[in-house]
Amino acid sequence: MEAALVVVFGLIIGSFLNVVIHRLPLGENVVFPPSHCPHCRANIPFYYNIPVCSYLFLRGRCHSCRSPISIQYPLVEGFCAFSFWLTWQFFGLSTTAIFSVVFISLLITLAVIDLKHMILPDELTLGGSALFFTYSFFNPAVSQLDAVLSGLGAALVFSGFFYFYLKVRKIEGLGFGDVKMVLLMGLFLGLQRLVVAIFLASFSGLLVGLFFMVFKKKNLKFALPFGPFLSLGSYVSLFWGNDILAWLGTLWLLK
Ligand SMILES: [Zn+2]
Repeated sequence: MEAALVVVFGLIIGSFLNVVIHRLPLGENVVFPPSHCPHCRANIPFYYNIPVCSYLFLRGRCHSCRSPISIQYPLVEGFCAFSFWLTWQFFGLSTTAIFSVVFISLLITLAVIDLKHMILPDELTLGGSALFFTYSFFNPAVSQLDAVLSGLGAALVFSGFFYFYLKVRKIEGLGFGDVKMVLLMGLFLGLQRLVVAIFLASFSGLLVGLFFMVFKKKNLKFALPFGPFLSLGSYVSLFWGNDILAWLGTLWLLK
């Protein structure tokens, strides 16, 4: 029963994240007007706006003009619901769980917006940083000193990379949005899980970058948004970061 409520809540929030993903980069209000089809502008009545189910029932097309609806909508909703369930499995119904789902919602929204537009909006990175700075006073898992130093330290290191790329290689290898995103990550994850998150992000980014260079014949200057990888790394590290570190520590001791 509790699990079902958590999943339904995740679906509803996922549906809202889709609205933010669509409207925030366009500078539109995320609350008003109500949902409408981007093609024919027809309003979407609530019974055609039920997460995942409506997409399946309408077979991925607008109820009015039959234009295809992006697969992004059910994917974000389904993944959000799964993430809420996973958080509930790890942290139960707790303050940690509430702030974890807020963090995950930010990660999902940032990843999809960065994939579509190559930007990480300040409203999410800096807004999220302000929220998690406030939470750092109460966070039972990470001390405030750890949170603040990790966030600021990572932002400093990443701005170093940013200016290095800009001055030396004359390209924006990293956007300044990435700098603000690692600030947000550090403020919530603390140093240990932040290090794991950035390592996983760099490693997966490198793999995907190599894949594009080898199989898609892209050169070294092609741009790959880093936000989705930072999101992926943070997501994995939020749940398993400390285990991964302990496991690496055991490997190192066994040598
Ligand atoms: Zn339509």
